Amino acid sequence: MTQDTAPQAPLQGFGTFDFDKAIIKSLQKNGFETPTPIQQLAILPVMSGADLMGIAQTGSGKTAAFSLPTINKLIPDYLKPESNYPKALIMAPTRELAMQIGKFIDQFSRGTPIRSMVIAGGQSYQPQIKRLKHGVDILISTPGRLIDHMQSGNVKLDYCHTFILDEADRMLDMGFIDEVKRVRKTLPEDHQTVMFSATMNDKVKRLSKELLKNPEYVEQERKTIVADTITHKLMNVRRKNKTDLLIKLLKTEPIDKILVFARTKLGADKLATDLKRAFEDTPLRIDAIHGDKKQRTREKILLNFRKGRTKVLVATDVAARGIDVDGISHVINYELPIEAENYVHRVGRTGRAGELGTAISFCDPSDMRLLKEIEALLKIKVEIDEDHKYHFEQSEFIEDRKRKPRRRGKSQSPRKSGEKFDKSRGRKAKAEQKPKEKTARKESPRKPQRTYDPLDSNFGFDDDPVLEKLRGKAKKRKKKTENREAPKDVKKQRGEKKRKTPKDRVTARGRIKQTGGHKAFSPKKKGGTSKRGK
Ligand code: AMP
Repeated sequence: MTQDTAPQAPLQGFGTFDFDKAIIKSLQKNGFETPTPIQQLAILPVMSGADLMGIAQTGSGKTAAFSLPTINKLIPDYLKPESNYPKALIMAPTRELAMQIGKFIDQFSRGTPIRSMVIAGGQSYQPQIKRLKHGVDILISTPGRLIDHMQSGNVKLDYCHTFILDEADRMLDMGFIDEVKRVRKTLPEDHQTVMFSATMNDKVKRLSKELLKNPEYVEQERKTIVADTITHKLMNVRRKNKTDLLIKLLKTEPIDKILVFARTKLGADKLATDLKRAFEDTPLRIDAIHGDKKQRTREKILLNFRKGRTKVLVATDVAARGIDVDGISHVINYELPIEAENYVHRVGRTGRAGELGTAISFCDPSDMRLLKEIEALLKIKVEIDEDHKYHFEQSEFIEDRKRKPRRRGKSQSPRKSGEKFDKSRGRKAKAEQKPKEKTARKESPRKPQRTYDPLDSNFGFDDDPVLEKLRGKAKKRKKKTENREAPKDVKKQRGEKKRKTPKDRVTARGRIKQTGGHKAFSPKKKGGTSKRGK
């Protein structure tokens, strides 16, 4: 790959690119004065017809970097497109991103003969079929719907000489590799391929090797992988207090538009409902967007958000991909993303094109591991905002974990670890304990203090699919111990009673002792007999 062969020195304005007059007019109309770094690097190679691999994050101006030269190339010697034969194809992983690119191309091809259209899932087929038949120059599509139309002969790529893959990393993450390869096979031999990706991971490298011929390689220069106009903040808050803290923030922070990220569709809906209830007597409008909502509804929700009618939008990662809404002042990670890279995508919704933005992450003890990954990726230490009533010290949990080995088994009797805990724990830390935890200690002074362990299913986060994922190992261990239990009929022969409820287990103290702590992790002695029985 040719590394950075494009001109690296900043060019003065868009005039240098020799764009068609109509494009220049649109640039002026939309307030585009100076090309962003990725535009400076990518526009000329794309315009020249070379294959290109561009590494640029959302918010960098990458859409213009590939769209403007693509529109421009088609203007000289313009011929009306043949029915069902687009001249350029842009593939995007999500509907929202495809719509956004479509909107950009529509805006910047005004005054030119170029016709473009978006085909994405969730819309009816008939109007799409009609328009494709009418002929389009630039087709923007999501993979699934594109394949559908190709199969029914509505899209034929024999004359499509420009193939652009946007957000290739996401495309691969979402499992669209086969669709991409299938589309590529039907392109003419001498087509140009342009790939953009936020990251250059192994999968993207492999795909780029497969798809690109002698590509130019351009990468947006950056100190950190997120815009430095974004301030990152962390708020330590227990899961149960997250909604209250968010309500407080919405009441106090000077907010323009705010995008709140939840991990699941259900979670997003629930949070939006809770917030709506909290603000029902105010004009603050709140909405949720995720993949279970119909395309029409999603478009409407986005429009309301874009226009500022909705101030708070709760979203899942997939739904928020490519949301290009100006003036988002805050991104709140109500729950941290599982993949650190998604943090970059999430916070990239704010601080766009030089504007200032704030990214606040709510960090429950279970998020600590994810936070470390994010900090490592960003090479920053996120500043903790302690100025709220729900704040707790993460060190409380770290200290506990240091003192108490995480292994749970026979070597760790409840009594021993209980003593150790009580001795080493200072008064201050005790005083800081929330009432609920105090009650938990009262239950049994000899029981070990329940230090937080995200892998421990007894911490009541069973509805969290992420923790389910993280707990994979623990689950296996649980299975192992279960296997070691005596078969039911053997127990029956021994006259053991079936233990039905936790209460039963507490009554049978002997049995508890020999399990050595948490049932899920403690190996049982052969036969499951109690010490007393020996
Ligand atoms: P993108 O990374 O393509 O999603 O673009 C991010 C935002 O920056 C969009 O709102 C663009 O309209 C805007 N933008 C892109 N290039 C420029 C530019 N050269 N000058 C001003 N705004 C721009």
